[in-house]
Amino acid sequence: MSPPRPHFLVLTYPLQGHIAPALRLARRLLAVAPDVLVTFSTTEAAHQRLFPAKQEEEGLNGRGDGGGGRLEFIPFSDGTEGGYGGGSDVGAFNAYMASFHAAGPRSVGALVDALAARGRPVSRVVYTLMLPWAADVARGRGVPSALYWIQPVAVFAVYHHYFHGYAGAVAEHYRRGDPSFVVELPGLAPLAVGDLPTFLTESTDPANYFHAVFLTFRDLFDTLDREAPAATVLINSCQELEVGALAAVGPHDVLPIGPVLPAGDEHSIFKQDDAKYMEWLDTKPASSVVYVSFGSLATMAREQLDELLVGLEEGRRPYLLVVRKDNKATLAEAEAEMGERLENGVVVEWCDQVRVLSHAAVGCFVTHCGWNSVAESVASGVPMVGVPKVSEQSMNARLVEREWRTGVRGQVDDGGVLRAAELRRCVEEVMGDGAAAAEVRRRAREWKRVAAEAMGNGGSSYCNLVAFVDGARSSN
Ligand code: UDP
Repeated sequence: MSPPRPHFLVLTYPLQGHIAPALRLARRLLAVAPDVLVTFSTTEAAHQRLFPAKQEEEGLNGRGDGGGGRLEFIPFSDGTEGGYGGGSDVGAFNAYMASFHAAGPRSVGALVDALAARGRPVSRVVYTLMLPWAADVARGRGVPSALYWIQPVAVFAVYHHYFHGYAGAVAEHYRRGDPSFVVELPGLAPLAVGDLPTFLTESTDPANYFHAVFLTFRDLFDTLDREAPAATVLINSCQELEVGALAAVGPHDVLPIGPVLPAGDEHSIFKQDDAKYMEWLDTKPASSVVYVSFGSLATMAREQLDELLVGLEEGRRPYLLVVRKDNKATLAEAEAEMGERLENGVVVEWCDQVRVLSHAAVGCFVTHCGWNSVAESVASGVPMVGVPKVSEQSMNARLVEREWRTGVRGQVDDGGVLRAAELRRCVEEVMGDGAAAAEVRRRAREWKRVAAEAMGNGGSSYCNLVAFVDGARSSN
């Protein structure tokens, strides 16, 4: 009898920025080994958005990948009817997280059992950031697990040290109220306290909206410590980008396997605008367009949107701006006021960002520095202007500006607003005629080559993922 095929259960929290890299990893696993099976699972509400009614049957039956059922999509329950609705009510967010952490493990446990009962036993559970209980569910059934860290290695190292002896020092520095105050963590370059992940500074306060996220990260690092002899951590980055940080990750078995890009079209929880913007890009000269997006979560206040539009128009370069549906009313107000002064840009509610970034016309990405956006930009060779706000975005912006030097960071004013003049200055620094801008573009091209090599057959990220799959095969 032939041994069972390696079967990975990929679990993710229901945010677009988590679903996208998880889905890409799922398809990448299928691509690196022809015998591998994958079951992809997120919450029921997100699953519904990924597979609106007519496609649902196809999604559930796993025929959507054209791979003879090698990829199946089966949701788990977070204990709610419609998922988390968003909003600013801390109580509602805390209640959602409590439900997610209580119902999630029960539902995922039942899923692992059901898969085994129908002859598709799980050989590895792979889970993204906000599901520390996934490791316990797996361990309870004798199944090894791996964390899929969807941020850079350097950020993993910061979290690791914070939860291993440095929480007090960080808290003390943070309390002083000066964001430029320097924190030293083992093996890492000195960091300004204001560049640390906000979940480790402002969110340690129980009254903070994201306190439940801080607690979840704390659980996650406790969970990793319980793995023996070492926790396996797959990271959506490549070792060439993070040589220094890789030496600072503690005892964990860290495997950079990225940056993983979509293989063809990708399901998203957002509806894409029709692809006219791609035709528009086709009409623009090489490296002439400024692409602007702040990801799937951040919304812009009217003042910020005005500054952006003024800065982009005054810069006289064509621009493609993403303003999501939930920010549309603000855009309508701004447009009504600016009227015909808006002439160089195209605004969409949602685009296929990876396609946009890989279009020859795009010359710069003004980004909030969510890790997916940064990784996609690095992999596409597009220089960045970083405007970080929350979570680890400041760390990512710092890596772009100081380590890889493929972009600059915009300075916001005291109210956190990036002014039009500053936007213009930053765009010039990466798109302009000067020698420094040309050097930024040269390095962006160089890192694109390095990332592609890491992902190519025989590259470092490719070999790490193959080794991970082989490990699952040999212990089946
Ligand atoms: N994205 C997209 N179209 C858009 C805007 C964003 O496809 O119009 C994708 C982007 O490619 C990335 C994800 O949404 O994969 C955003 O993730 P990121 O980590 O950058 O930020 P988050 O949304 O989590 O803040």
